[in-house]
Amino acid sequence: MPDNQQDYLIIFLSPEPSRTPGEQWQSDRYQQFAYFNDSLAAPADRPAVYVIDGKDPSYTKETLQQLRSHPDHYADLCFVSDPVGSSDDGLSDGKLPDPASLQGTVTESQQLNLLFKTIEDGQQTHEQWLMRFLLMRPNYVIKPLHQWSHARRYRYPILEVFGGPMIDTEGWLKRLVSQRILQSVELIDRQKECTFCKSAQLSFIDVCPNCSHIDINKQISLHCFTCGNVAAQDNFMNNGVLVCPNCSTRLRHIGADYDRPLENYRCNSCTHYFIEGDVLCRCAICEQTTSPAELLQNDIRSWKLSDHGRLTAMHGNSDDLFDVFNQLNYVPYELFIHDLNWLLIQANRYEATNFSVLGLYFTNIPELISEIGHQDVFQLLEGFSGHIRSLTRRTDLCARAVENTIWLLLPHTDYEGVKGLESRIKVAAQLTQQQEDHLLVCEMVHFSSSESSSVAEDAKLLLAQMQSDLIDAR
Ligand SMILES: [Zn+2]
Ligand SMILES: [Zn+2]
Ligand SMILES: [Zn+2]
Repeated sequence: MPDNQQDYLIIFLSPEPSRTPGEQWQSDRYQQFAYFNDSLAAPADRPAVYVIDGKDPSYTKETLQQLRSHPDHYADLCFVSDPVGSSDDGLSDGKLPDPASLQGTVTESQQLNLLFKTIEDGQQTHEQWLMRFLLMRPNYVIKPLHQWSHARRYRYPILEVFGGPMIDTEGWLKRLVSQRILQSVELIDRQKECTFCKSAQLSFIDVCPNCSHIDINKQISLHCFTCGNVAAQDNFMNNGVLVCPNCSTRLRHIGADYDRPLENYRCNSCTHYFIEGDVLCRCAICEQTTSPAELLQNDIRSWKLSDHGRLTAMHGNSDDLFDVFNQLNYVPYELFIHDLNWLLIQANRYEATNFSVLGLYFTNIPELISEIGHQDVFQLLEGFSGHIRSLTRRTDLCARAVENTIWLLLPHTDYEGVKGLESRIKVAAQLTQQQEDHLLVCEMVHFSSSESSSVAEDAKLLLAQMQSDLIDAR
């Protein structure tokens, strides 16, 4: 075996304990192998690759579940010898490749594995399991599996396996997306879901718009012009001629004596006539009834590990660096936009209104992380955030929209005021950097209501313009 090739072990798993590896595996092509009948045990000194042998889908499924829930082997490569008979829902690495490709896959996987730093105390979270699994498979896409018998109709088997039985997979997925660990690949489906239990097993039923009873039926009705009576056609039949049951008028000519009303549904419970029934939605799982307008709408997507997720996986820390700015008057972005819009409207109406916005963009965070590590960058930002805190007032608001940018909203601050703050922050940045060897590069851009006579009353537009100025300044 050439030096650059890694020594690894292929472990075959089979439902037939007495079976020995077939000729096909023993041939010179797969040189390194051992055969452990039904155990995930692998020697610690050599990397191992698993192959599930056999055509029994339930065995494949069970073994993959065991492997992916094993604290030492959950991210290991695992192939199936028979893709036709397999039932793995994305838990395997597909069909066993030929020896040359297998060598390449193993080497790549080992290199990627080195990037993942396990947490010192050995306590790994569900997120870390998932991120490591994904980090070692750069092209892996988390696909929703359609299953008609499932309450939500779509499942994510890989999330179920890493989340464990106690976790609400859908809630976990939402958290992973809001933490920007996963990013969307493709929209697969869009479905309505029950407001109460989020099930997608719904049925729709027409009911009477007057009393909501389900006992309605289509009925041919007549409308008597003389008295205005509307009733079923059968009620007008009298010895072969049409007679109004209400006023006893004989109805001879349609259009002159009577017509057919548009209302051709009748409720057998309250005798109400109507054109169109109401629609009610019933959930098959929790049996609650709602109106279709109240149902939740859910986009079903496929997902992959984002760049941010990759960084987080490699540095073994899912803490958000920008949490250090929580000590400022940090507000949700939507609230920041709301307040900024309000100030913009005021500034256009009343000349005396004075406010400014200051944007700070940290241009070299990813580079710094790879130079000095996540923890040191965290401390650097923490020191800087402390300086900013001492320079701002309690009325100033702080928010964050896109990566590595924070916004400060400064009420009652004119052009001179914001220029002053900007230069004091620059000094603070230099002070922070005097204590550290590494430079935190921060670009700034400001807007002042006193600067411009007329501004668009649109906060998002304003911030987008400022953001592009910040990126250009880099
Ligand atoms: Zn009714
Ligand atoms: Zn009549
Ligand atoms: Zn429900």
